[in-house]
Amino acid sequence: MPFQPVPTQVDFVAQEHEVLDFWKRTDAFRKLVALRADGPRWSFIDGPITANNPMGVHHGWGRTYKDLFHRYKAMRGFRTRYQNGFDCQGLWVEVEVEKELGFQSKRDIEDFGIDRFVRKCKERVLRFAAVQTEQSIRLGYWMDWNDPDFLRDLARRLVKNPKEVITVHGPHGPVTDTVEQIVGRLGLPELGGSYFTLSNENNYMIWTFLKRCWERGWLYKGTDVMPWCPRCATGISQHEIVTEGYQERTHPSVVLRFPLRGREKESLLVWTTTPWTLTSNVAAAVGPELTYVKVRQGDEVFYLSKGTLHQLKGPYEVLEEMKGTALEGWTYDGPFDELEAQRAAGSPQAHRVILWDEVGEAEGTGIVHIAPGCGAEDFQLSKEYGLPAIAPLDEEGYFIDGFGPLTGTHVSESAERVFESLREKGLLYRLEDYTHRYPVCWRCGTDLVFRLVDEWFISMGPVYDKPREELTEEEKARSLRYQIMDVVDQIRWIPEFGYAREMDWLRNMHDWMISKKRFWGLALPIWECTQCGHFEVIGDEHELKERAVAGWETFEGHTPHRPWVDAVRIRCPKCGAEVKRIPDVGNPWLDAGIVSFSTLQYRTNPDYWRQWYPADFITESFPGQFRNWFYSLLAMATVLDNSPPFKTCFGYATLLAEDGREMHKSWGNAIEFNEAADRMGVDVMRWLYCRQKPERDLLFGYGKADEVRRQFLLPLWNAYVFFVTYANIDHWTPATSNEQPATSNQQR
Ligand SMILES: [Zn+2]
Ligand SMILES: [Zn+2]
Repeated sequence: MPFQPVPTQVDFVAQEHEVLDFWKRTDAFRKLVALRADGPRWSFIDGPITANNPMGVHHGWGRTYKDLFHRYKAMRGFRTRYQNGFDCQGLWVEVEVEKELGFQSKRDIEDFGIDRFVRKCKERVLRFAAVQTEQSIRLGYWMDWNDPDFLRDLARRLVKNPKEVITVHGPHGPVTDTVEQIVGRLGLPELGGSYFTLSNENNYMIWTFLKRCWERGWLYKGTDVMPWCPRCATGISQHEIVTEGYQERTHPSVVLRFPLRGREKESLLVWTTTPWTLTSNVAAAVGPELTYVKVRQGDEVFYLSKGTLHQLKGPYEVLEEMKGTALEGWTYDGPFDELEAQRAAGSPQAHRVILWDEVGEAEGTGIVHIAPGCGAEDFQLSKEYGLPAIAPLDEEGYFIDGFGPLTGTHVSESAERVFESLREKGLLYRLEDYTHRYPVCWRCGTDLVFRLVDEWFISMGPVYDKPREELTEEEKARSLRYQIMDVVDQIRWIPEFGYAREMDWLRNMHDWMISKKRFWGLALPIWECTQCGHFEVIGDEHELKERAVAGWETFEGHTPHRPWVDAVRIRCPKCGAEVKRIPDVGNPWLDAGIVSFSTLQYRTNPDYWRQWYPADFITESFPGQFRNWFYSLLAMATVLDNSPPFKTCFGYATLLAEDGREMHKSWGNAIEFNEAADRMGVDVMRWLYCRQKPERDLLFGYGKADEVRRQFLLPLWNAYVFFVTYANIDHWTPATSNEQPATSNQQR
């Protein structure tokens, strides 16, 4: 019989395993790579997956596209690099390791030892890189994968003895080094396999990038009021907070009196949902064009805006109406003027009514309490009006000295005490629960506070009030954002609206905050002199060695991470003092954004880099990436080479559960990747992903999977069974031919 008979009943999942075994047994992937070794290049740069947990079915969508395009290009005769990427550094990994170790705060980490903690972070990354590698192979995704057992073995050895010298087999022969350095060299040409953003090369390449920024005067330390997570004890950047950073929360809201000076029994009525900030009140803002009313209630007189009279409880009598401008300059007694921190800042003398266009009546009383040390807009206003700023909280959200009975209290437990104090002083008017969208930490879900802090930024340059075409070369040279826009113009965006989204972000984004006061991540290469304030950026490991005046022996042999790199001191070129590195680590989007340089050997093999840069194609789920990965790729390539890092960007939407909601374990609608692979099979998954219109959200679940099996896989199988059965009955054999079709794509 010319055709092997096939069963009418088939176990698709079992069949997938047979295929996977066949690929492994025959080393099919390596054979493909060898077959295409001389083909024209098709360059793909992978957006790294965070190696911090098992991958989800939403990752399966993107990874299916990546596999599909690679296979298509290989069939067309192209050679590609097949390099998967793992994102390794940053707070997301720290938070999981803290959970593993049962830690509550940064102090726990310091007690444990930063070196041990950093090793635990590396270990976790290697462990989950192994898991995700296995899952990707199960998906049928062909890449130049590391052996998962090798990664797990490295993880174990690293924790046991990072100094152990081992020999591993790379594509060009054996490599001997310490376990710590082998981990630091993962993904580099001598070891092959996936790239890891923790690699030495990735980190030093970012140093080079930051040095260029510094040389152009774009790197600076800024004092600003930032959203801050008191649990993670770190600032949260605008990039991290824009879309996913809000949750619905119920907080106590308070209306209170600000007694006016020189007007007996008369008060402003002020509203806030963050009572802790009242300790740091400096001013009260009114809308200049809003209408305000003077009302009598009992023997008291209050001022509030006309549109918010519903805030009053009980009967009242309107005595007078006036514009906000009429209130400007009135002085009042603040709610916490007795505090030492208030007096030390000169705040009681500064208390007055100021004008602010942004004051509205949608909530509150039309009179906004201003605490410049506790709010971003408040801080801007304080600069305009020359007001002092009071910063009440330490890194972990505890009231610092100078706040009387509140000192030592955590911000999350301070509301009751504030209300009590207001009650005693007769300032409390009304208390009420208030539900609103409130910013929370995207990693741990803690309510964010706003803190006055020093952070490091890359300046995006001014936004000019005229069309881009009319900008002069000098204006563009001063503004990185316009230079990036010129690069964005050269890229093909699929779907097309990607172009507008990226441009929109570039027009509106603030300066890029790149620092975090944490432990596991890129060691920002900034050495700041505490004597004279001058700071230097070190461009790579060679410059560091050259400039080191102390601590090099401690650092040598280690990867460029904390705490080892912190030991190295340089000489301040301005005043001669010995200078330490700032303790901050970098924003992880620096890690992912540099890969079109670091993984293509920009520093070590420029010819290779020129052959493979820019990428012909990248693909990621677009929500979020316009301000994250796409943005950081673009910004870094603009600074380093003033060129587009990719030619085509293919974006796809979000994967949701079948009920149209996000998948959440607690909602019972989440499906784990392994479970889906076992129950529905990856062919079904892949077809589900591929038949989807990429710009629409994809509904994923077992109902949809059944649909695919019934409407696509089974009919396909039945057609095959039908063909085999009747071909055998008729003794039909296909004509064989060894001739290549003349128009084969490979020969074009
Ligand atoms: Zn947090
Ligand atoms: Zn100095």
